[in-house]
Amino acid sequence: MLNRGPSARRAIPSLDRLLRLDAIGSLVSRYGRPLVTEAARAEITALRAALSRSNAHDSSHFDEALFVRACAARLAQETRPSLRPVFNLTGTVLHTNLGRALMPQEAADAVARAMTRPVNLEFDLGGGDRGERDRHIERWLTKLTGAEAALVVNNNAAAVYLALNTLAPRKEVPVSRGELIEIGGAFRIPDIMARAGCRLREIGTTNRTHLRDYASAISPRTAALMKVHTSNYAIQGFTAAVAEPDLAALAHKHGLPFIVDLGSGMLVDLEEYGLPHEPTPRDALEAGADVVTFSGDKLLGGPQAGLIAGRAELIERMRRNPMKRALRVDKMTLAALEAVLKLYSDPQRLRNSLPTLRSLTRPLPDIESQARRLLPAVQAALGDAADTAIVELKSQIGSGSLPVDLIASCGIAVSVPGKRRSAAAAEIAAAFRALPVPVIGRVREGTFIMDLRCLEHEQEFVEQLKHLDLEAKGVNSE
Ligand SMILES: *Cc1c(COP(=O)(O)O)cnc(C)c1O
Repeated sequence: MLNRGPSARRAIPSLDRLLRLDAIGSLVSRYGRPLVTEAARAEITALRAALSRSNAHDSSHFDEALFVRACAARLAQETRPSLRPVFNLTGTVLHTNLGRALMPQEAADAVARAMTRPVNLEFDLGGGDRGERDRHIERWLTKLTGAEAALVVNNNAAAVYLALNTLAPRKEVPVSRGELIEIGGAFRIPDIMARAGCRLREIGTTNRTHLRDYASAISPRTAALMKVHTSNYAIQGFTAAVAEPDLAALAHKHGLPFIVDLGSGMLVDLEEYGLPHEPTPRDALEAGADVVTFSGDKLLGGPQAGLIAGRAELIERMRRNPMKRALRVDKMTLAALEAVLKLYSDPQRLRNSLPTLRSLTRPLPDIESQARRLLPAVQAALGDAADTAIVELKSQIGSGSLPVDLIASCGIAVSVPGKRRSAAAAEIAAAFRALPVPVIGRVREGTFIMDLRCLEHEQEFVEQLKHLDLEAKGVNSE
C-alpha cells in the first residue's frame, strides 16, 4: 500500500492546475469559485482514496473530462434545494410532514408582491402613521366568523399559548381528561398550559365528563373554562362530554371567559361540499365561546398561522401581551392569509379556488379514471420487476381533522409477489422517493400504495417515471 499510494497520487494534477481548466471555469461562472473549489478538492480526495484502495497500475492516466463531470454532478447535488416539491400520494390530504395546505396562485402572487416590494405592513395609509399588522386580515376574519375582533400568530399552538398566557396566568383552567390531547409534532395541551403559566385542573374521566365536574372545579383560583376539540381521535362507546352552550353558560355565570381550541377551523360548513361536518369558529362563537383558536394551514387551506377570534376586549388584551410580539407573523404569512380569506367570500367558487377543498371533494370517478390512465405507464416503468393493480382506498383529511371520517379514493398498488415481498415494497417506495420530484406513497402489508386523490401534475408524474431506478434500490437483486 505504501509504495503504491504515493505514485498513484502523483498522477492527479494539483488543485490549482485543475481549477484553471476551461470546463471548470464554466462551472465557476455558474456556481461561484468557493463552491467549485470545494467540490474539486472533495473530488480529488475521493479519487485519492479510490486509488489507494484499488490496485490500479494505470494510475498515471488522469481523465480530465471525467473529473469535470464528477465535479459538475457534485455541485448539482449540493446546490439542489433542500426544500423541494414532492408528490403527496400518501392518501392524507393535509399531511403535516409534507407541508399541510396547498395554497392558490392568488396567495402565491400576494406573497411574491409582499416579498419584493415595500408594503404597508404596519402603516396606516389614511393617517400616514403607524398601523397594526393584524388589521389586514381582521376584517375578513370577523366577517367570516362573526367575531368582534381577531388576531393572528405563528400557529395554533401559539394561539392557545397566547390566549392562556393572557387570560389565565398563575390561575387554574379546568379541562376535561378526555380532551388532554397530543397533536403530532409535540403539541400537548398540558405542556402548553404549563408553559403558558396556568394550572391545568383535570376534571372528569377519559370517556365521561359532566357539567357538574366543571361546576365543582370552579373556585376563586379559576381563570377560564376551556374546551379542546379532540381533533385527531374519537372517544366512542360509553361517553359523555358537555355541550358548548352549557359550558359557556356556566363560565359566564361565574364571570369567566370560555375558550374553545378548535384545531382545524374550517370557515364554512363542509357538509355543503358533501364532506363530514366539522365545527366552525362561527359555530363555537354562536354557542357562546368568548375566544376561539384555530390553525391557518389545516382545513382553512392557508399558510401556517394561528388565528384567534372572539370578544374585542379579550383580543385586545392578547394584543398587548408582550408575547404577541414574539409570536407575530411576518408579511408573507399575512399576504397569503389575506388572499385565502378573500376566497371565502364566494363559497360557490371555493371548491375550485381552494386547492385543499378541491382535493378533498375530488369526485371518485375522476380519481378512478386517472388510475386507469396511469396504470400502463407505471407498469411500463417497473417492467416485469413488479405487479401493479388499481385498488380502492380511503383517503384521510389529515392534520388531526376528522380522524374517523375517511373519504373513498382510488390508487395504484405495486407489489413483488414472493418471499421478499415486504423488503421489495420498501425498496419500491425508496425508488419512487428517489425520482426527480419524489413520489411519497405508503407501504402497507408488503404493498407500495399510491393514492391518486392529490395528484394534480399528472404530466410531470408520468414523464419522470423513466427515471425510476429499481436496480439502485435493489428491487431486482436476489
Ligand atoms: C392542530 C391542533 C393544534 C395545533 O395547531 P398548529 O397550527 O399545528 O400549531 C392545537 N389544537 C388542536 C385541537 C389541533 O387540532
